[in-house]
Amino acid sequence: MTKVGGRMFKAFLIKFAEIGVKGNNRDLFEAALAQQIKYALRRCEGSFSVRRNRGRIYIDALSEFDFEETVENLKTVCGIASICPMVQSEDEGVEQLCRDVVAYVDDQYPDKHFTFKVNARRAQKNYPLTSMEINALVGEKLLEAFPDLQVDVHEPDVMIHVEVREKIYLYSTEIPGPGGMPVGTNGKAMLLLSGGIDSPVAGYMVAKRGVKIDAVYFHAPPYTSDRAKQKVVDLARLVARYSGPIYLYVVNFTDIQMAIYEKCPHDELTIIMRRYMMRIAEQLAKKTDCLGLVTGESIGQVASQTMQSLAVTNEVCAMPVYRPCIGLDKQEIVEIAEKIGTYETSILPFEDCCTIFVAKHPVTKPNPGVIRRHEENLKDVIDELFQKAVETAEQIVVEA
Ligand code: ATP
Ligand code: MG
Repeated sequence: MTKVGGRMFKAFLIKFAEIGVKGNNRDLFEAALAQQIKYALRRCEGSFSVRRNRGRIYIDALSEFDFEETVENLKTVCGIASICPMVQSEDEGVEQLCRDVVAYVDDQYPDKHFTFKVNARRAQKNYPLTSMEINALVGEKLLEAFPDLQVDVHEPDVMIHVEVREKIYLYSTEIPGPGGMPVGTNGKAMLLLSGGIDSPVAGYMVAKRGVKIDAVYFHAPPYTSDRAKQKVVDLARLVARYSGPIYLYVVNFTDIQMAIYEKCPHDELTIIMRRYMMRIAEQLAKKTDCLGLVTGESIGQVASQTMQSLAVTNEVCAMPVYRPCIGLDKQEIVEIAEKIGTYETSILPFEDCCTIFVAKHPVTKPNPGVIRRHEENLKDVIDELFQKAVETAEQIVVEA
């Protein structure tokens, strides 16, 4: 059956599902969700009101609005299980209710060859009919009006929901949201954001679990250009659609990188560089009240992501390091990047500070003792360079 667009809709019912959320947490969950919904709606034309009512969230359009744009933006709100566009009408009695449902079905489904079921709910218990009676009556009126329709109470093609509240709400479509939990319900983490494909996906994946994110980008001018930095800012902006505003710290990494290049074996450059990135990220994370680090690493993807390399990278920080892409193949990561809209930006060809100085044959099984010993070569300069890198980090507030 074909469906017509959104011109009838003036409201949305937002459904959320996270079984573990109970008691007080439920209230926090809903409040955070309502806030993130408002944040997403600010990007849309039109004005809206967001209401919480008996474990549900309703959005009412207070003006003309663009249906497609609104739905697209709501799809970025973590915690939303589904978005139900609703038709709303005043409660003017049962007869009128039946006429409204018939008009709704007529408008939404030009081809009437489908099976349906009516599912009524009453919040107003003083309504003259019970839910069962509403189901039966509305079903009957629909069959009268459209003889090609058929009832199927087990597996209907279309479930027509009728909610009797202070007003009458009708809906029959559920557009999937991203699921997960609203950002702000699970603390904050520091994302190591590069210009690649994986780290924006990693940021999205933790945001989806309710984690707010800050980000750090290691920039190595003049080896990495302003355009490479702009690409990272653009990626942060895309991730911010899901995560809310991101404080992005741009760390000037050139001096540290040069020092490593001059004083350490070249086949260990990447791994030692990664260790300094982690140390600096942890320092910034502590200063900004983050509870963990997040990277886009995935086992075995490159030399610096073998189990041995990850162990050596990991040992420099005490904070938990979250790697949401760890078990995903590149193609699976690409699919998520495409879904969340970061892929096109990620593949733009700008230089990456990790690849500028890479050795032809980087170690794939670094020995932690050996790496530590070679890092000793840096001891005269590194403390000062480290501190300078942290102190001179540029903060950019990135909003979607
Ligand atoms: P990505 O696609 O995320 O860049 P990658 O496959 O290119 O990942 P690496 O370059 O080895 O992998 O980086 C592994 C992880 O280290 C990245 O996912 C990111 O979290 C972090 N990282 C790498 N380079 C930088 C950088 N210049 N600034 C911030 N984080 C970085
Ligand atoms: Mg990279």
